[in-house]
Amino acid sequence: MMYLFTFILIFFLQFSLHAQSIWNTKRSAWQSIEPKDRENIENYIDGYASYLDKARTELSSTKEFIDLLRSEGFALYSNSTQIKKGAKLIFNNRDRALIAVIIGEQSLIKGSRLIGAHHDSPRIDIKARPLYEQDGFALLQTIYYGGIKKYQWVNIPLMLSGRIDKKDGTTVQVEIGRKPDDPIIIIPDAAPHVDSPLRKREYTGVMEGEEMDPIIGSIPDQKNSILNTVMNVLSTSYNCTEEDLVSAELHITPAIGARDIGLDRSLIGSYGQDDRSCSYVAIRALMGIEKTPDLTAFAYIVDNEETGNVNNTGAASTFLNKVYGIISEAQAGKDFSENMTRQALTAAKVISADANDGISPLFPGLSEKTNAAKLGFGPSIKRYGRSFDANSEFTAWIRNLLDKKSIPWQTASYKVETGGGGTIGGQMSKEDMEVIDIGIPLLSMHSPFEIASKIDIWNLHRLFTEFYIAQ
Ligand SMILES: [Zn+2]
Repeated sequence: MMYLFTFILIFFLQFSLHAQSIWNTKRSAWQSIEPKDRENIENYIDGYASYLDKARTELSSTKEFIDLLRSEGFALYSNSTQIKKGAKLIFNNRDRALIAVIIGEQSLIKGSRLIGAHHDSPRIDIKARPLYEQDGFALLQTIYYGGIKKYQWVNIPLMLSGRIDKKDGTTVQVEIGRKPDDPIIIIPDAAPHVDSPLRKREYTGVMEGEEMDPIIGSIPDQKNSILNTVMNVLSTSYNCTEEDLVSAELHITPAIGARDIGLDRSLIGSYGQDDRSCSYVAIRALMGIEKTPDLTAFAYIVDNEETGNVNNTGAASTFLNKVYGIISEAQAGKDFSENMTRQALTAAKVISADANDGISPLFPGLSEKTNAAKLGFGPSIKRYGRSFDANSEFTAWIRNLLDKKSIPWQTASYKVETGGGGTIGGQMSKEDMEVIDIGIPLLSMHSPFEIASKIDIWNLHRLFTEFYIAQ
């Protein structure tokens, strides 16, 4: 009897030592690459970093994407005679959003593959009457855009870029602070020598919204006005008046560019990786498709996700439906009916791509680790629960695609009751499209310098490439 008991005890001890979840056996994607892959990853990241350095807002990003696409044979859409099998087209939505498409062999009603991502990022915008003077300085009145932790934007070099539209119909492009010899602007902090009245402030209120004003000058003119000095520079460089700033979109973003992180150069740091990482990869993967795909492939890049998909360049606009309608109509000719557009939308398979939070080594307790995403472990299928997820059959279809192509992947769910995040996926689900949320994990999300693993970006590219041509 004693013998039998010992046997059973040993059996269970052994089982509990060996039994482990499949998820605990997953290794970092770095551990399964060939030496030549490392070179490919670095080359890919070089292109990504140079895009990030130039694309600081949706305006500059749209310009960069259009330049990249045109260099790869894509043409701006102007009329329906361009819609033919194999055509590579760009639908530009007001220079702030775009759809790049390769028309497939089959008509749109048979199905399509679409990757949607947003290329606006959290930042600081200026108000309509921004200029004011205070204690020997000229400053800008601002309002922050998206979910920022305000204290992170203080005491770092900031740049100003965007457009000023004038009454005569002309547009002036503005970019100050990106190039190393440009001046920068800065939101100054209080010195530790004098800040005792501020020390009781709470984490989220270290800086108040109305304190987020950068310094833009300090020399008074003969009339003792610093504003005159600043306006003089603006009118000489950009030929604009103070009132022109009412019809301007000027955005304040970090001035520093992308850098490698870590002695092993495994990570990349830059402003705006949420979500210019997925946007860039969606465009690059589409550019890489050599043969006309069976089904039409779309990269759909939108603005205003960080403020809830609003306005006519955000995902809640009807721009996507319009483009599906234009293509459906061109393909059906005189037999076209509006219902065909609806059917084409229903037949689409969509990846709503967006960055997600990765487990932080300093705040691991903010994640529920068995279900959180880790940098370097591949693209994450987001499972946020509460009916926000893709239908399970579509999730299975994606899993099959990932495994068939040996692309490492993981899942991402938030710790219950600690936070959450939105995407553009809901807008496309509303159109009856089949949508799944996929992204890559970042550290320091929404900060002026977000961190991604280079290998996740590379594996996201592998996934997007396969998805565009998948049956
Ligand atoms: Zn995002």
